[in-house]
Amino acid sequence: MMRNPDGGVALAVRKPDGTIATEYTVQKSRARKGTFLGLPVVRGVVAFVESLVNGMQMTTHAADIYAGGTGEQEEPTKFEKWLASKLGKDAGDIAMGIAVVLAIILALGLFVFLPSFLLQLIPWGDSVPNIVRSLVEGVVRLLIFLGYVAGISCIKDVKRLYQYHGAEHKVISCYEHEAELTPESAIKYSRFHARCGTNYLFLVMAISILFFACLPYSSNFFLRVLTRLVFIPLVAGISYEVLKACAASDSLIARIVRAPGLALQRLTTREPELDMLEVALAAFHLAMNNGKMPEPPMEETQPSMEEGSATDFTHPSMEAETECGGKMPDATIQEE
Ligand SMILES: [Zn+2]
Repeated sequence: MMRNPDGGVALAVRKPDGTIATEYTVQKSRARKGTFLGLPVVRGVVAFVESLVNGMQMTTHAADIYAGGTGEQEEPTKFEKWLASKLGKDAGDIAMGIAVVLAIILALGLFVFLPSFLLQLIPWGDSVPNIVRSLVEGVVRLLIFLGYVAGISCIKDVKRLYQYHGAEHKVISCYEHEAELTPESAIKYSRFHARCGTNYLFLVMAISILFFACLPYSSNFFLRVLTRLVFIPLVAGISYEVLKACAASDSLIARIVRAPGLALQRLTTREPELDMLEVALAAFHLAMNNGKMPEPPMEETQPSMEEGSATDFTHPSMEAETECGGKMPDATIQEE
């Protein structure tokens, strides 16, 4: 999956018969300039929620396209049909809504409740300053996060997802180095990329450690969890602004901000196979040409690259994105 600065999302899926299915949709963000949702910090929260919802929609949709080839389309369950008729909404939307809610509950359970709960178990002496307790909680949260990201890569499908993530980065690097856009050429490039959603996730973790360390500490478990819940959107919003400020810069501070995220990509990407790079290239061409190339012929990659650079893509802000990575503020380079 690749995004272009116009809000276009290109999806490419390898079907069971070996062919590549592609699809292009335009998703306009609600965080428009001049509106409340477009205000600094608020827009980061909007981007965070939108990337979560869009990411899950796209992953499910990719699975649908894959299943479409084998005729194994999933039927809505009885409960989903009942709920759909009650609420007057599509059964697919309802299933997606439930999936998003479950994902949020899982994330809050792992990264908010669990660290706070574990902190309760530590026999703190009275002399331990509160700021130390908050920092320990933050570090515990970070360790759970890293363990989770590394742990799920043991699942075969997640490992493939991470490989595709690596393929996306390689294709974009290959393009940025103006090299020939073929799988054989792209595989030589790094699977780590400075503009990756992984960086955003890590920054949210890092800033939340500092932020919550500054808040007054409460020994009441529920009060502590509640403050975390209330301030998470603010932390996500601030992180977005920090990342946006650093996106176009190559200063020392910008590189320091990006460094942990790049390191984290050792977990969220894997070395891809050539056939995965072919899929990433299909999505890339589609995004690059604003969806005008429904079935990009792989042999003619060279002319289409020329086509791309002839238009306004001299400073590409193409963004590779997978569900695991969340979303970086794309289009940042072109906006300002
Ligand atoms: Zn990425």
